[in-house]
Amino acid sequence: MSKSWQCPFCNNHSTVNNQNMSSGDLFFDNENKLGRLNLKIESITCPNPDCREFVLEAHLFESVIKNSNFGSSYVDGSLIYSWKLHPQSTAKPLPDYIPTAIKADYKEACSILNLSPKASATLARRCLQGMIRNFWEVKPQNLFQEIESIKDKVEPDTWEAIDVVRKVGNIGAHMEKDINQIVEVDENEASLLIGLIEMLIEEWYVSRYERKQRLAQIKQLGQDKDVQRKMKSNPVTPN
Ligand SMILES: [Zn+2]
Repeated sequence: MSKSWQCPFCNNHSTVNNQNMSSGDLFFDNENKLGRLNLKIESITCPNPDCREFVLEAHLFESVIKNSNFGSSYVDGSLIYSWKLHPQSTAKPLPDYIPTAIKADYKEACSILNLSPKASATLARRCLQGMIRNFWEVKPQNLFQEIESIKDKVEPDTWEAIDVVRKVGNIGAHMEKDINQIVEVDENEASLLIGLIEMLIEEWYVSRYERKQRLAQIKQLGQDKDVQRKMKSNPVTPN
């Protein structure tokens, strides 16, 4: 069996097969209230020779009887719960040139995603605010005004998505103002906000950094060629 896979440590995309994957099942019942269950543990090791990190996850399934022409056997039924054992959070490693406070908010938003999607959305909102202030150098106001002030600097659909992070993050940040108006944020919704933060880090910080690197290389190339040209026109003659 093989499948395409992205390593959460080095971000490399690869195809993993039985050489990179292991799994084991623990069946138990002991007259527990849910009946026969299967705890499946899976590990995948990154094939990238420079990484070789491994991911460890556990999934709890119902274990149900399936009847066929060949008799009956137990198969995995519906998934009850999943745990990320290593790494425990879905946070992607971010480059050193991203400001520390932004990295910290991003990491925390990822680590609290399962436990409290609402708190995660609030942190994603704060992370976004940090990015707008730092990257676009906007004057600190409230987030609504800060987002307004970059309206002509980003693509319209990006701008709309940014405004969604503000609105959803607000649900967590200001819920204490009116406790009768409880709006829930689920894990999927909060993970969409994290996905947007990752996309903007890529589009803003990583692109800017790579652009600078490329231009610096071209500049260096120009200087090297100048030196070579000068050496050709004034060759050093041996005495
Ligand atoms: Zn890797």
